[in-house]
Amino acid sequence: MGPADVAVVGAGYAGSAAALFLTRLGHRVTVYEAVADPAPVGAGILLQPSGMLVLARLERALAGVGDGGDGASKAPLARVLARGAVIDALRCRTGDGRPLFELAYARLRGDLYGLGLHRGVLFQALFDALQPAGVEVVLGCRVVALDGRRLVDDRGRLHGPHELVVVADGARSELRAALFPEARDVPYPWGALWFVAADPAALFQRELLQLVDGTRRMFGLLPTGQAPARDVNLTSLFWSVRGSRVPVLKRRLRFVGLHLFRDWVCRMEPRAEPLVAQIEEPEQLLFASYRDVRMRRWYALDRGVPVVVIGDAAHAMSPQLGQGSNLALLDAMALAEALEEGTDLAEGLERYQAARRAHLGFYQRINRWLTPFFQSDGVALGWVRDLGLSAAASVPWIDRAMLETLSGVRRGFVRSRALDLPALPLPER
Ligand SMILES: Cc1cc2nc3c(=O)[nH]c(=O)nc-3n(C[C@H](O)[C@H](O)[C@H](O)COP(=O)(O)OP(=O)(O)OC[C@H]3O[C@@H](n4cnc5c(N)ncnc54)[C@H](O)[C@@H]3O)c2cc1C
Repeated sequence: MGPADVAVVGAGYAGSAAALFLTRLGHRVTVYEAVADPAPVGAGILLQPSGMLVLARLERALAGVGDGGDGASKAPLARVLARGAVIDALRCRTGDGRPLFELAYARLRGDLYGLGLHRGVLFQALFDALQPAGVEVVLGCRVVALDGRRLVDDRGRLHGPHELVVVADGARSELRAALFPEARDVPYPWGALWFVAADPAALFQRELLQLVDGTRRMFGLLPTGQAPARDVNLTSLFWSVRGSRVPVLKRRLRFVGLHLFRDWVCRMEPRAEPLVAQIEEPEQLLFASYRDVRMRRWYALDRGVPVVVIGDAAHAMSPQLGQGSNLALLDAMALAEALEEGTDLAEGLERYQAARRAHLGFYQRINRWLTPFFQSDGVALGWVRDLGLSAAASVPWIDRAMLETLSGVRRGFVRSRALDLPALPLPER
């Protein structure tokens, strides 16, 4: 199809990546972001080979762009590789030291790895590329509705007109709620407390470690590399917690003192002692909640202007498998490809729906099924997990399926063809 005037709502991973891909295809793109002064904040995420594949393609697409000085703005993959921590495996064991499973990327293919990353590093790698690539960025603009081909912000101002609206405003999307009331949006009762610790001695390296004790207790450590403006190694710590218990828990920690909490962590993983010692008050533990969002169809042609929903806005899920950011990046790439192949917007959007259906459907289902085995009140589910997972991982084809799932490339439960992954450049660190 020919060039269109595209509005992207939200400058998260999905929105920024979509804007970059689309602008390189010749579309005129404006990004509307609610935050007036976006800053690289947050804890760690695990970037999968699938997410790195998208960044590699993006880097190729941006190669012809003027760089505004330092060249960094057109090298999102190089930027995350420079700051991320290479993760060779996801290892899970019980609190009393019993190994449950270890998923090493190299068993799938020798050159594969994950990347533990400060969220802000990926955000900045994408956001900094927008303006040099020719994307118009409107900050401090919270879009809440559409009025024909125009966007309406929370102060009643109109923006546009546009020929396509890409909704990428995250799990709590206001536009999805307004335009697709039939979408399901269910909050999970469980979430996680997060803390990002300085780990200058790199006590935790090369693996995402998860320690589980039944289904109510889970503690994880993710090497996170370095934050955008902080040259010290970081490790993200996360604890599973029921959302409704957070205020009580924090009050208890304030009264009783954090030593009880630290002792519990150190019993499970003594090496974490210098990291948890950095938590001096309960307020340093930040709570993140998750949602399960389901949509039958991610686009509509009858809302005054063609609209498509991508990223968490379309399919938020629990972060159990560490896929959300990677799926958001894949959505962005797939949308640009589908629009390029379609003869018009309607055909392009239908192609997008078809291209993403199997992959997203698989990750949504498996996340929904797996989450209660790791975070719930179901005691028996913990036993089933402990017995089942270690046995399953010893069966070669299940091991392969688990590795493909972790890497972000699986597309179905049986006999599915995985997404193709090109060789990945290893970081020079
Ligand atoms: C605890 C936790 C751990 C996670 N760990 C991982 C992990 O290890 N690996 C992984 O891949 N993923 C992980 N995720 C998921 C990942 O964070 C999300 O999937 C990813 O951020 C989705 O990107 P997005 O661009 O769709 O949405 P977001 O990142 O939420 O971006 C949405 C953007 O839209 C803007 N916005 C919101 N409303 C409006 C509006 N009305 N108008 C304009 N702009 C608006 C926001 O300010 C924001 O900039 C984790 C999530 C959580 C909660």
